[in-house]
Amino acid sequence: MLQYLGHRMGMKTFLICSVLALSLGACAVTVIDRDIVAFDTPPPKISEYMAEPSILVFSETQQWRHEEGIAGADLYMIETGRELGYGVFTTENSAVFNAQSLSRFNVVVFNNVTGDALTPDEEAAFKNWLEAGGAWVGLHGAGDSSHTDWPWYSQTLLGSTFTNHPADPQFQDARLENLNPQHPVMDGLPSEWVHNEEWYSFDAPAQNFGQIVLLGVDESTYSPVNRSYGNSNLIMDKDGKGPIAHPVAWARCVRAGRAVYSALGHQDTAYDMPYVRKLIANAILWTDKKTDPDGQGCFNAGG
Ligand SMILES: [Zn+2]
Repeated sequence: MLQYLGHRMGMKTFLICSVLALSLGACAVTVIDRDIVAFDTPPPKISEYMAEPSILVFSETQQWRHEEGIAGADLYMIETGRELGYGVFTTENSAVFNAQSLSRFNVVVFNNVTGDALTPDEEAAFKNWLEAGGAWVGLHGAGDSSHTDWPWYSQTLLGSTFTNHPADPQFQDARLENLNPQHPVMDGLPSEWVHNEEWYSFDAPAQNFGQIVLLGVDESTYSPVNRSYGNSNLIMDKDGKGPIAHPVAWARCVRAGRAVYSALGHQDTAYDMPYVRKLIANAILWTDKKTDPDGQGCFNAGG
């Protein structure tokens, strides 16, 4: 059912595949390569009995796959959906992004989605749905640098572009600071707390792109260095401004829609942390206008 398989298949894979197909007659099992983009069709069947309201949790990965983080967030979403009174529908089939299927959902969560997961038509369907009053919550990998093929997503929903994360050690305790205590997404969260994470760095703080900042990380409490690969200069707080220089969660209102991104959540255990759970639950309720129906949070820039 992968109509577009091979649409953008890397030439290397194509050649290997062809040779193996001739000699073994078993091409299909060899088509495993990061260069492949395989778009799905048809859309998943959504039961007429699906609970309302409902959350669509989408976790397709065309690039890095956070295997444990995706499972942890799926489990969290099931539990939290039950708690907040939402049905939860999980899928990795991007064909769900069509006007008819999207009309069944109140909130869309991008659970560590990476790479070029949606076709241009699916991207347009999601943009239309969100701008008409939809709700989007993006988790961790959904904000990495693999989304630049979709300018509206990478520039409007995310704003900041991921540069790299520390390695050696990859996971570190660091101090988080609540940058926007009055914002509905930060309701019930403390002014600061310590969290263990793979800390994402970005090209510039989210407020530079018009985002509403919610949460920042204190670079003085961990080592923002990648000694192993890629861009090693991960320091965003060059002037000693503190966590405001390094936001890791932010919000944005897009026409009638609302969006929240949180860079937390590489590890499955992140979704066991009470404050992470609270932040995402608040984000679901706020983006879905269950809190702050008048949209005060759309103008509270934070910081
Ligand atoms: Zn990660």
